[in-house]
Amino acid sequence: MTQITPQPGIMGIQLYQGGASHVDGVSNVLKLSSNENPFGPSNAAMEAYRREAFHLHRYPSTDHKSLRAAIGDIHGLDPDRVICGVGSDEIITFLCQAFAGPGDEVIHTEHGFAMYRISALAAGATPVEVLERERTTDVDAILNGCTEKTKLVFIANPNNPTGTMIGGNEIARLADGLPDGALLVLDGAYAEYVDGYDGGASLIDTCDNVFMTRTFSKLYGLGGLRVGWGYGSQQVIDILNRIRGPFNLSIAALAAAEAAIGDTDYVEKCRTENTRWRAWLAEALAELGVPSDTSTANFILARFSSRTEANSCDEFLKKQGIIVRRVAGYNLPNCLRITVGDEAGCRRVAHAVKQFKEQTQ
Ligand SMILES: *Cc1c(COP(=O)(O)O)cnc(C)c1O
Repeated sequence: MTQITPQPGIMGIQLYQGGASHVDGVSNVLKLSSNENPFGPSNAAMEAYRREAFHLHRYPSTDHKSLRAAIGDIHGLDPDRVICGVGSDEIITFLCQAFAGPGDEVIHTEHGFAMYRISALAAGATPVEVLERERTTDVDAILNGCTEKTKLVFIANPNNPTGTMIGGNEIARLADGLPDGALLVLDGAYAEYVDGYDGGASLIDTCDNVFMTRTFSKLYGLGGLRVGWGYGSQQVIDILNRIRGPFNLSIAALAAAEAAIGDTDYVEKCRTENTRWRAWLAEALAELGVPSDTSTANFILARFSSRTEANSCDEFLKKQGIIVRRVAGYNLPNCLRITVGDEAGCRRVAHAVKQFKEQTQ
């Protein structure tokens, strides 16, 4: 057994912790731990998924032409420069596999998404963490962290788990200042929640060192199906397509995603509800002495006075069947990340935090 050893870096990977989904002995659980759409998928997506039951003996398309055309149509992008993956996680994996290996550096920010580090290590590259400023991406810190070994720079905008984002000028300044040979990856998992934000797409059309990832897991409510996509220069897309498995997306996933993106009324409804209840929840928690940074996504990073208070609030919520996310693993031990639910969900979690505060006073 001992001669069987993995590639360097692999044993340094800490397993990704997904949001919990059940509490022992509690039936009406409210899951606010994984930034899922509280309204679920659109009816159109569910119908498309069911229809595919009759075709399960058929292999899926290898080029995802129809889904890419729908994405291009909705977002005003060149479909030839779109690549689809098993969640945007797979696109992140492709990027690391294609561009970073032993001796190369992959930059992510202090409270950045865990998959950047995991995928960099899996590719044998060295993850490099740079500081944020007040839980917000710091462009100067990233530029200072770059070396001639930097191959990829990952930032989520809006970021998870902080919910903060930086503006287009800052992104452009970052792209402009990167060393030759480094690719800036803008993870737009939450871009749809930001009114008028294109996730960086227009910048990509003028800067070929910028790439964008997007997902159907959040606003579109299809996290369980695993569909994501990326957009970049033709050169980068052609490279990534070489390592993409020909049948990486199932027929059901392709059909449901295409229907979901076309159901624009439903998408708009989910976006509007999120904006409304996010503001309500942030305000309700702030009044209870639990502040948060202004969130641009579908969750709030609630800040407690200490790690102890955050953990005991989490325990209290869990006893009532409310599951939120601890983020000590993201170096935010005094915070809890709470997904914005529907109205009932937001009221329930705010009420429970109020009870927690009253009980501990
Ligand atoms: C949820 C999330 C994703 C989405 O991952 P999928 O693989 O598409 O489900 C990507 N990036 C960030 C920052 C996220 O929070």
